[in-house]
Amino acid sequence: MLLNAKIHDIKIIHPGLAIFQVAANDWQFPEFKAGQYVILGLPCEAPRCIGALPEEKPHKPDTIIRRAYSIASANSNSRYLEFYINLVPSGELTPRLFALNIGDPLFIGSKITGIFTIDQIPLSRNLLFIATGTGLAPYMSMIRSHLLEHLDRKLCILHGARNSWELGYKAQLRHLQTYIPNFAYHTVISKPESEPTK
Ligand SMILES: Cc1cc2nc3c(=O)[nH]c(=O)nc-3n(C[C@H](O)[C@H](O)[C@H](O)COP(=O)(O)OP(=O)(O)OC[C@H]3O[C@@H](n4cnc5c(N)ncnc54)[C@H](O)[C@@H]3O)c2cc1C
Repeated sequence: MLLNAKIHDIKIIHPGLAIFQVAANDWQFPEFKAGQYVILGLPCEAPRCIGALPEEKPHKPDTIIRRAYSIASANSNSRYLEFYINLVPSGELTPRLFALNIGDPLFIGSKITGIFTIDQIPLSRNLLFIATGTGLAPYMSMIRSHLLEHLDRKLCILHGARNSWELGYKAQLRHLQTYIPNFAYHTVISKPESEPTK
């Protein structure tokens, strides 16, 4: 199968947690709604990252390992799609994704789908988004796609993680909270005992 895209950029949040930006090779991503997802894939022959556990079963040669990922970028961004991904050391795809570098090829599905969107919610309703870990990804797309369109609507995001250094997008969300009066960003940490003391 054609590896029809390449890594545009990678931002490491913490070992095993990263933001991947994926650009299409000479084709255009279809239009999508904030909150939807797409398939990413890599050949089973692709190397696994350092720290990955060995796989229990070998793959048939030429298999493309595919998994669904929520898009975190704005639906107006046609240059690349962004994904917020957690490494599963025993997993099939994520150890291969975490071995990629900028410019490396991968597969991305040409169909973007999913019903976890906010377009059916009346504009008169305020929004509370609750997520742990990479569950933030579809909300990032919603915030980036729609926040500035409806500044009178109250929007609160509650993001949980084990520790503060695993709160991806923290700087961007704090920045938005400073400048957008109706936007609130709150965080919850489940392992406060490992946080540095002031
Ligand atoms: C609609 C949709 C959207 C998704 N969006 C995202 C996203 O934005 N970011 C993201 O990181 N993942 C997302 N996922 C999960 C993703 O599709 C993969 O399941 C995940 O990345 C693991 O893939 P893998 O091949 O490495 O592990 P697999 O080989 O599929 O799994 C190996 C083992 O790890 C377990 N496992 C799977 N995921 C996790 C996890 N997160 N933590 C601990 N154990 C796990 C499995 O149950 C299995 O036992 C989404 C899934 C769906 C269905």
